[in-house]
Amino acid sequence: MAELTDLSGVGRKTANVVLQHGHNIVEGVVVDTHVQRLSQRLGLTTETSPRKIEPELMELIPESHWQEFTHLCIDHGRAVCTARSPDCGDCELEDICPSSKLDSDVDLASGESWT
Ligand code: SF4
Repeated sequence: MAELTDLSGVGRKTANVVLQHGHNIVEGVVVDTHVQRLSQRLGLTTETSPRKIEPELMELIPESHWQEFTHLCIDHGRAVCTARSPDCGDCELEDICPSSKLDSDVDLASGESWT
């Protein structure tokens, strides 16, 4: 990890992707835009930067699921919990999600009211 992040322009997200997909080494959680949005909406973090979100997720999620968590967030973020128009009424996580439009006026990812 350190050898990669020492390279100019390489952050933890890129380093994690290279390690996981190129070398099958899992040293962290890839925090892309979907992981960030889903983690915030689900109340897993109140942080706003991937650099601070990642260690919080690493504390919450068992290490054996770090890689899978990213893939599940990406799939769910593309199919259901999209940035602009999440389909809360057809979401399997609706009953545990503090941002659900069915129960909440606020999108915890943006901090703004649902429109
Ligand atoms: S209930 Fe809505 S905001 Fe929460 S995860 Fe599902 S789609 Fe996203």
